[in-house]
Amino acid sequence: MQPLIDNARLFGQRPEEFAKLAEGQSPQVLFITCSDSRVVPALITGAGPGELFELRTAGNIVPPYTSEHPTSEAATIEYAVEVLGVSDIVVCGHSHCGAVGALVRGDDLTAVPAVRDWLAHAAPRPAGAPEDPAVAEGVQSHVLTQLLRLRSYPFIEQKLTARQLTVRAWYYEVHTGAVREHRADTDTFEAL
Ligand SMILES: [Zn+2]
Repeated sequence: MQPLIDNARLFGQRPEEFAKLAEGQSPQVLFITCSDSRVVPALITGAGPGELFELRTAGNIVPPYTSEHPTSEAATIEYAVEVLGVSDIVVCGHSHCGAVGALVRGDDLTAVPAVRDWLAHAAPRPAGAPEDPAVAEGVQSHVLTQLLRLRSYPFIEQKLTARQLTVRAWYYEVHTGAVREHRADTDTFEAL
């Protein structure tokens, strides 16, 4: 922890670089990805402060939309789309994802009931080879499921229909740094 604290102390010694951020934010992209520490959106995209609005959840799961049971995830997505007016939403899954791996393998998660119950939102259970440590196939199908979930949010469907929003599915390899994007025409994940 100490190196992180030391860096945070130094980081705060550059006020002139950040002063204009007090004026507000107008990011173009909502970046939804896993909480995994190996996935660093700003590092992958080169984004600086103010450029990426982030939503990080275990397994980059987008929960079902319901106005009856508010969720932090839906609130974050709604704010990004309706208030900030982002033009793009990226859902980025990643190789070696613990959450997706647990789903693909059907792990017993009774010791972590909060995780178990959260992962229940991921349905349908992603297909994939349980013996593949990268769970590439599972993660890619899982990301597409989350994209469909996003489309079920009424305000997103509305923006998509009006062509005011683009949604993208990415697959990031933590062991190579490569990023692939889903192409609708071939239904495959291809290098950016
Ligand atoms: Zn993950």
